[in-house]
Amino acid sequence: MGFYANGQKKIINILYGSKYDDVLDSSAEFIEKEIAPSAANIDKEKVSPKGNLERLAQQGMIASHFPDKYGSLALPYPVHIAILEMVSKACASTGVSMAIHNTCCEGFRLYGTKKQKEKYLTSLIGTGNIAAFCLTETSGGTNIFSNMKTVAKKEQDGYVINGSKTFITNAGLASVYIVFAKLEDKVTMFLVDKDTPGLSFSKPFDKDCVRGSVTCEVFFDGCKIPKENLLGKEGGGSSYCIEMLNKGRVGIATLAVGISQAAFEKSIYYATTRNAKGSPIADLQLIQKKIASMACGIDAARLLTYHAASVSGEYFSRMANEAKLFASKTALECAVESKYIHAAHGCMAESNIERHLRDVWVTLIGEGTVEILEQTVSRLLVKEYQKSPGLSFW
Ligand SMILES: Cc1cc2nc3c(=O)[nH]c(=O)nc-3n(C[C@H](O)[C@H](O)[C@H](O)COP(=O)(O)OP(=O)(O)OC[C@H]3O[C@@H](n4cnc5c(N)ncnc54)[C@H](O)[C@@H]3O)c2cc1C
Repeated sequence: MGFYANGQKKIINILYGSKYDDVLDSSAEFIEKEIAPSAANIDKEKVSPKGNLERLAQQGMIASHFPDKYGSLALPYPVHIAILEMVSKACASTGVSMAIHNTCCEGFRLYGTKKQKEKYLTSLIGTGNIAAFCLTETSGGTNIFSNMKTVAKKEQDGYVINGSKTFITNAGLASVYIVFAKLEDKVTMFLVDKDTPGLSFSKPFDKDCVRGSVTCEVFFDGCKIPKENLLGKEGGGSSYCIEMLNKGRVGIATLAVGISQAAFEKSIYYATTRNAKGSPIADLQLIQKKIASMACGIDAARLLTYHAASVSGEYFSRMANEAKLFASKTALECAVESKYIHAAHGCMAESNIERHLRDVWVTLIGEGTVEILEQTVSRLLVKEYQKSPGLSFW
């Protein structure tokens, strides 16, 4: 099969012919050689994937869909998604750090001034510096806009931020933090550089999923930032955040597809090499049912995710939410089926199957829980149908 799964290649070929085969083949070779071998240890020892992110940046792969002036490969977004899928298949801890870093880069692309783009995108795409997205607070991530306690106060030459954020990926490692805070009760988006006095971090959380990716609380204790560190307009934070999260959800859907594919390939290998009554367990109908259901789920999740990556406008929002919802639930099913197929071996760390089953959880929760995505998809659909002149009883 090769590291670059056939399913990916087929979708990219439908979209662009064979134009990107070479770049994807070389990316696959790099990821298989440089990222995959350390994944189990990154998880076991909770080693930060910073080295992997730096290597990906050096190759232009960390945000490969950005213009080449930032040191990127300037690929179409679906092709970048294919690279992120391979990274996530190799090492989900690296995949989630890269996906959230990409969400931040998107914030700069959409809302940054020319100066901010030059300064931050060059460093975040070409040099291996990474970013963190600071939204969730201890009061809860889902209803954050109404519950937000982090505040910004305007001063003559800038802003002062006070408050805290929790469950923040890349915290402590990142050189810049995109922070949502209330400025006179209106959610506003700011940049806080790592060396800003008053910015500090908790010890990393000891978590079950993506254990290598660093997740901390972030504290803002009178963080004084210059007025140039406003990202977008004052009060625009909620709509910027939703836009960035929509793009981010395609990234997390991709992470889910990568984890599913990893569990699937190990299952095929195991089912064809483990014997029962003299023939491989792949010949047993109940095992065949699991393999078929994993394959259908992954193919459907991948199609939905790459489709989301290739569309725009209001339709993109629904597709991005559908992709994350479906791909994350598929990843959970695949990891569970994979564990059934591996039986006792699947409980052992060496199989990596228990790791895949743990890692899935970040895709079900991060950048929007399953429950909130179900509501969002339904709400967007109803809105679409209500606007459509064709909606009638028939
Ligand atoms: C590994 C990891 C990395 C993360 N990285 C980041 C990061 O980099 N930056 C960041 O800002 N956050 C990050 N998060 C936080 C994540 O975005 C939040 O955990 C998520 O938004 C849910 O918030 P919560 O955990 O506080 O759950 P809550 O919001 O408290 O929800 C609890 C339960 O109630 C349900 N619920 C709550 N409100 C509603 C509602 N209105 N309608 C329907 N159901 C509802 C939820 O679906 C869930 O089942 C990360 C989380 C994890 C696990």
